[in-house]
Amino acid sequence: MEDRISRIIIVGGGSAGWLSAGVIAAEHRLDSQARKPIELLLIESPDVPTIGVGEGTWPSMRTTLQRIGLSETDFIRECDASFKQGTYFRNWNTSSGDTYSHPFTIPIDFAETNLAPHWLALTDAPQFADAVTPQTALFADCLAPKQITTPEYAFVVNYAYHLDAGKFAELLRRHCTEQLGVKHVKANVSQINTAENGDIQSVTTDCAGDIAGDLFIDCTGTRSLLLGEHFKIPFQSQRAYLFNDTALAAQVPYTEEDQPIQSCTLSTAQTAGWIWDIGLPTRRGTGHVYSSDHISVDEATAQLLNYIKEIAGDDAAASVVPREIRFQPGHRREFWHRNCVAIGMSSGFIEPLEASALVMVELAAGMIADQMPPTRAVMHIVAKRYNQKFLRHWNKIIEFLKLHYALSARDDTPYWQDNRATTSIPDRLSEQLLLWHYRSPWHQDAEAVDDLFPTASYQYILYGMGFKTVPRHTRSYQKSQRQASELFRKNAARATKLKQALPGNRELLNKVREFGFQKL
Ligand SMILES: Cc1cc2nc3c(=O)[nH]c(=O)nc-3n(C[C@H](O)[C@H](O)[C@H](O)COP(=O)(O)OP(=O)(O)OC[C@H]3O[C@@H](n4cnc5c(N)ncnc54)[C@H](O)[C@@H]3O)c2cc1C
Repeated sequence: MEDRISRIIIVGGGSAGWLSAGVIAAEHRLDSQARKPIELLLIESPDVPTIGVGEGTWPSMRTTLQRIGLSETDFIRECDASFKQGTYFRNWNTSSGDTYSHPFTIPIDFAETNLAPHWLALTDAPQFADAVTPQTALFADCLAPKQITTPEYAFVVNYAYHLDAGKFAELLRRHCTEQLGVKHVKANVSQINTAENGDIQSVTTDCAGDIAGDLFIDCTGTRSLLLGEHFKIPFQSQRAYLFNDTALAAQVPYTEEDQPIQSCTLSTAQTAGWIWDIGLPTRRGTGHVYSSDHISVDEATAQLLNYIKEIAGDDAAASVVPREIRFQPGHRREFWHRNCVAIGMSSGFIEPLEASALVMVELAAGMIADQMPPTRAVMHIVAKRYNQKFLRHWNKIIEFLKLHYALSARDDTPYWQDNRATTSIPDRLSEQLLLWHYRSPWHQDAEAVDDLFPTASYQYILYGMGFKTVPRHTRSYQKSQRQASELFRKNAARATKLKQALPGNRELLNKVREFGFQKL
């Protein structure tokens, strides 16, 4: 096989670069057919810093870390990580203290019973998420999703992580270079060199010469050096749907050493964006994401500092200098072109609501690792599938994020009015919303088995935000009525039991630091 893919070059050493290196190296260190390993080399600029944010993950990160061969205990100890069980939204609907949740656990018996129409028919019902999963009761009390005796990566209730992005990239670098055989070059890529057939043949660096490869992975962040600058694959702005384009990030100390650590991301809507609040063991990561068309940087800073004052006091607010990060919401038109594939910010970024960026990196690296083209001759087939799949994922992200804005009843500022205007809602989402007025989303609404957001997630946002579906009292609805009452009762009982059994988030994290989890 003359055109065998045997050397992969990754350019960029942020979370995207190192996660991709880890997932691919873990799978391809020994190519069983050819008995030759695939060589992986990562080039990282010593001068261009990583973006340094990206602190919320999805539950998929547990599988990814396991696949890479990292111990969960080491990960928690070294990345200042904590457990995340979902997101808690405040003021998104009315600006006057309303709340709803998007937990990671799907509703009880979701495979068999659609509880949404039954919940809609209840009078005096608890919030939708509280009625169908015990998880929201746990994060209301800052509890952990497992116990110290639960083995690594296993759970009592589904969970993901909050982490320190800088420490995470550093742990991945060490693990990839020391355990997985990934070569690491610190140099600036200054030129891309083209082969006769139009592929990338090599990249020229400022201090390590020319580096050749068969497949190039562009993880250079928003610059998109290979796919964007070299191949000129157009960027598709999604600003017509989602307006946020600036973030102000700040780290905030806890007021007391043993202050409880939130086990969900807090998302508090503002007049032209929203503030995230993420609890790590040693600090809180906060930030204001907003639309620069709707508010000035001074106003956005004032709102963030006010928030910090509320959670950490005047001194904390006075000492914080938020870091401004600007981004264009959107993605490349295609992601894999010739022998180059972009992963992470170089492929696109919308905004951090629902923390969907790192999961896209995991999916991208996973697909490349699983469907690695053995030769250049078949690469275009994998590339075509990859482009179709990831375009679908991006569209789903846009629709799902927009759901939070489109359903809001807020009209207190032009930002919310513009966000609710029908012209800013993607057509497919508008269609679905129309349909969901007559029946709640369930399994029929899933487009593919690997849909990024399960239909359970749509239910959590729709009914959390007060969307009304007119219940149709069909045969199957009537048949499942008794079952539904029993499930609501069971869920409430499980919530009570788990609240007694599970430790606090901080308590468990302290124990992990001291004793570690059982290894699987
Ligand atoms: C405000 C904000 C909040 C976010 N929150 C979340 C979140 O909660 N959850 C989530 O999943 N994601 C989040 N993200 C996204 C997340 O931060 C990124 O997806 C993730 O960090 C991956 O970034 P990256 O590795 O693609 O890019 P970067 O971190 O920017 O890394 C780029 C790399 O390329 C290298 N490089 C650049 N030019 C060259 C060159 N010429 N030669 C060699 N190397 C070069 C740099 O040195 C660097 O190593 C957030 C993003 C923003 C903006």
